[in-house]
Amino acid sequence: MKTHPITLIPGDGIGPEVVSSARRVIDASGVKIQWEEARAGASVFLKGVASGVPRETIESINRTRVALKGPLETPVGYGEKSANVTLRKLFETFANLRPIREFPGVPTPYTGRGIDFVVVRENVEDLYAGIEHMQTPGVAQCLKLISHKGCEKIVNLAFEVALSEGRRSVHCATKANIMKLTEGLLKRTFEEAAPRFPAIQTQHIVVDNCAHQLVKKPEQFEVIVTTNMNGDILSDLASALVGGLGFAPSANIGHDVAIFEAVHGSAPKYAGKDVANPTALILSGVMLLRHLGEMEAAARIENAVLFTLAEGKTLPRDVVGDAKAAGTRAFTDAIIANLGRAPAGWRARDYRRLRVPPRRDQIVTVRPGQRRDFGVDVFVEADMTPSDLGGLLTRLAEPAGFKLKMISNRGTQVFPSRGAATDCIDHWRCRFIHPHPNGHLPLEQVNRLLDSMESAGLRWMQLEKLPEFDGQPGFTKAQGED
Ligand code: NAP
Repeated sequence: MKTHPITLIPGDGIGPEVVSSARRVIDASGVKIQWEEARAGASVFLKGVASGVPRETIESINRTRVALKGPLETPVGYGEKSANVTLRKLFETFANLRPIREFPGVPTPYTGRGIDFVVVRENVEDLYAGIEHMQTPGVAQCLKLISHKGCEKIVNLAFEVALSEGRRSVHCATKANIMKLTEGLLKRTFEEAAPRFPAIQTQHIVVDNCAHQLVKKPEQFEVIVTTNMNGDILSDLASALVGGLGFAPSANIGHDVAIFEAVHGSAPKYAGKDVANPTALILSGVMLLRHLGEMEAAARIENAVLFTLAEGKTLPRDVVGDAKAAGTRAFTDAIIANLGRAPAGWRARDYRRLRVPPRRDQIVTVRPGQRRDFGVDVFVEADMTPSDLGGLLTRLAEPAGFKLKMISNRGTQVFPSRGAATDCIDHWRCRFIHPHPNGHLPLEQVNRLLDSMESAGLRWMQLEKLPEFDGQPGFTKAQGED
């Protein structure tokens, strides 16, 4: 029998308790694992490692290629980056899979509806690229970065998930109706890929309606593929449909590395109290075993968890409340004792090993036949009225070879005025068009424009070109812009 090396990260708060449960159950299932314990999270931040992930942990995962991790605390609103996000990004685990299935013995308002779907969340791009700037002392910006390559990877993986689990449909949830270029890129990539999977029905759904439908009729979904931020929110909502965070496992899948963890956090108020529900982490271990091809052990553990829940003799606090609850350890003991049993009437899924589409080493995946630049958007900080700023910039633009087309404030055109009642702030997007666009913006004219703005006391903080690729504008209009 093969021995699998696996990095084990106990994590923070309730992490060590639920990770120990998962380890005990996996060991009892008969698979041979060589656990390599490694640190990440709060204890590492305290030692002054700003990433929260020390070198030894990175080396261990590079060796084993598979990790089972407990939750890691993230400081909110200041200082260090999330160690969770760092791990996902360091190992380019581009997909986060979150299965949601009704559990026998866990009553919810949805019991009996047959909820059974997977959220496939893009895991490294979008607002979680973590590119933030204070553009003025009072205005913050976070870059929503979405690539065609990233969309292709997550969309293809979502279809592979559907095939490996015998699913018939995939929904793509985006906000493409508002964010036509970023969220729209996922929608377009999904629509491009769909014909390659003719056996699978495909449907786009606007993400807010997806949230609404998840609460109203969750049984209609089988696979939902979505961007990072949408997926974060939808999957927490979805976990509440089947019993809450104590029941929500997940897998972070990359081309080379996979990291398995519960969806929940470190629940610090329960740390060390033997009350946490270890189901989410144990089922993350089941996903890990399937990833390793240990299908039989995975099914044995899953069946034992479901049998224990269905039997109802030993249940965790979040199912039966404090008075009747079994502790984390006792519930784990019951699962181990039930290995080999399966709940009556439970139809197990016929899982095939997930095929992760191969890595494509080429960096640029979309090469346009033709590209042109029309002009520039210059973002400036100014304590002026729109008409004063518009007058000044109109005068400065002409000698630099540009024409001021419009100014917007948080996306709404305010110059020339469209009569909008915009409550302006000191952050303006000023759109300058080059009157003779021949595909190339003369750099000296751009410099001249910026120089004259600086000389006039306007502080510019960002410049974006206005490109066109193969005749399609590569930028959106402001609200109210013609
Ligand atoms: P949380 O730790 O997930 O806890 C939220 C609530 O979910 C708990 O108060 C509890 O609800 C319930 N819960 C979570 N895990 C449970 C379990 N195993 N058994 C039973 N109930 C469970 O979320 P948070 O309080 O927002 O975050 C705490 C810390 O965890 C933060 O530092 C956050 O950044 C971090 N975090 C880490 C990860 C990760 O490592 N992947 C994910 C999310 C958050 P009741 O109060 O209703 O009992």
